[in-house]
Amino acid sequence: MQITVLGAGDAFSSGGRRQSGYLVETEGTGFLLDCGSMTLQALKALGISAQRIDFVAISHLHGDHFAGLPFLFLEYVYEQPRTRPLLIVGPPGTEERVWMLYRAMYRELAARPLCFPLQFHELNPGQSATLCGVELFPFRVPHQEKDISFGYLTKANGKAVLYSGDCGWNEDLIRYSANTDLFICECCYFHRQTAFHLSYPQIAAQRARMGCKRLLLSHLGREVLERMPEVTIECAADGLVVEV
Ligand SMILES: [Zn+2]
Ligand SMILES: [Zn+2]
Repeated sequence: MQITVLGAGDAFSSGGRRQSGYLVETEGTGFLLDCGSMTLQALKALGISAQRIDFVAISHLHGDHFAGLPFLFLEYVYEQPRTRPLLIVGPPGTEERVWMLYRAMYRELAARPLCFPLQFHELNPGQSATLCGVELFPFRVPHQEKDISFGYLTKANGKAVLYSGDCGWNEDLIRYSANTDLFICECCYFHRQTAFHLSYPQIAAQRARMGCKRLLLSHLGREVLERMPEVTIECAADGLVVEV
């Protein structure tokens, strides 16, 4: 399994980092974990064809995690014509929100049929799905009050990757990190403590309980970047490629 960090930044693009997006590639399958507004820019900067994407798994419907989808659609309409289906997986409400966004951004284009089938698969927490040989297990994490936010445990080719999405501290991060090869964990804050995002001291205090082989902090906020000399856990960077 190869994971390319397309965006290691938070919603504010702190430190100039791009918003969330990860390309996960296994034998014969490529998919995105989140598609922030700069995901297409990231693919082009890294020389990666958007045709390598078989499906997109969205953690939650915040702009820094899904606002890049309309640009991806445009790419498939005009620049790299796509005919095979594009599947978008996400929490309840994903289909409606993605279409709302696409219509708001490109009203006339969105009124015409796409040249490729756009399919949606909305999952409920705990409802796993197997797509193109990849097992996706979504679990609800504390981040939004009403809308559902997911973390994902993904497995393929005997490897397991945990992705926190955006979330406050929850014991599922311990439970699902067990025996994983990689845990991509959000790290927004350093001194601020909230129930909806993680801070570096919280993660560092729990590191010994996590069963992941490799822990990678991402979705890095300003506070974390300002105190980088104190950070001893590996941090993601735009363009970082991780092999597991
Ligand atoms: Zn976010
Ligand atoms: Zn969020």
